Amino acid sequence: MTTESALQTARTQLRRAVELLQLTENDWQTLSTPRRILEVAVPLRRDNGNVEMYKGFRVQYSTTRGPSKGGVRFHPDIDMDETVALAMLMTWKCALTNLPYGGAKGGIAVDAHTLSLGENERLTRRYTSEILPIIGPERDIPAPDVGTDERNMAWMMDTYSVNAGFSVPGVVTGKPIVLGGSLGRTSATGDGVAISTIEALRVKGIDQKGATVAIQGFGKVGYWAAIALENLGLKVVAVSDVSGGVTGFSSVADLWKYFQANGNLNMPGTDKITQEELLHLDVDVLIPAALADSVTEKTASGIKAKIIVEGANAPTTPGGDQILNDNKVLVVPDILANSGGVIVSYFEWVQDKQNYFWSADEVKQNLNDIMMKSFREVEHMAKDKKVSWREAAHMIGVARVAEAHRLRGLYP
Ligand code: GLU
Repeated sequence: MTTESALQTARTQLRRAVELLQLTENDWQTLSTPRRILEVAVPLRRDNGNVEMYKGFRVQYSTTRGPSKGGVRFHPDIDMDETVALAMLMTWKCALTNLPYGGAKGGIAVDAHTLSLGENERLTRRYTSEILPIIGPERDIPAPDVGTDERNMAWMMDTYSVNAGFSVPGVVTGKPIVLGGSLGRTSATGDGVAISTIEALRVKGIDQKGATVAIQGFGKVGYWAAIALENLGLKVVAVSDVSGGVTGFSSVADLWKYFQANGNLNMPGTDKITQEELLHLDVDVLIPAALADSVTEKTASGIKAKIIVEGANAPTTPGGDQILNDNKVLVVPDILANSGGVIVSYFEWVQDKQNYFWSADEVKQNLNDIMMKSFREVEHMAKDKKVSWREAAHMIGVARVAEAHRLRGLYP
């Protein structure tokens, strides 16, 4: 992963939005500077008694519109630059969807697959205790991201609560339901990707029944998007995980059963394909739902899909974006397409604050309302200003943060 480019990409996108919105140089200065950056050492005692040191990060990019919000990533390639870039994206994502949040991101440079359950718990708890002074339901609210899930959130919530002396469920979102999690949070990002896909098909005039989809990734985002789309009558023709892609399965549900039982996608009767072959399949919709930098200058020109829905954060490089725009591919950008996760995180936080929990239908309806509103706003802005959907989404998000800055003024 090219971490430097993730930050460069994010800054280039911001610069473009600032120009399109005709904001001032002062605005650029305030918008392009992360507000709080913390790097911590996270010692871990391995099961064999050895002590290893890991780098942990938490970036609070913006707190202008509310407490900062964003996931915690466990990935060997994560570094401070990438964390800043992802925290910046969270800022525009929360503003675009009009959630009362700033943006944050955190992580540990570790391969979670190499950790036993006990090691994962110790690492998560120590990381939480290192960043404890700057998080909290009114300050900064972590959530799951690549390499973390509801178990990590339970440990984070417990560590914070033990230190506070009472239960503080609102300190993280994406928790297990019994600890104050929300119904619908697990599938929320995938559900939002499905909503975006249906809307993009409408814009392109393609019938959703039988529309074909290829999904890169079969995890927290890709799997749930695949299930939701299959239920809506689309045909998911290929998915992949880190080891490669697969096509020729009869249903996502069947493939998932096999995957759960065997830990791989080599289901009898299916065909293996490479990641690149998956990207270049002749499908209506391509959903990159893995890591950053998958659609690049090298891979973009072979893409035949008419629509790309970015389930992952920053899956497309600026070079890739240019080619897709030239080829008239409709790209639903990450900060819109994958916003379902943070939207239901917001619902979870609201429910925790009120100690009053919603039905699954209520969560679904409210998620749908917010996503549809954001989608329409981006669609109109793109048409009105004759810009790409990515530019339109950034313009809306950045304008809201800039306006909040202006109204709050500068202290002292
Ligand atoms: N990690 C997710 C994202 O990138 C969710 C963040 C959250 O729920 O706070 O949007």
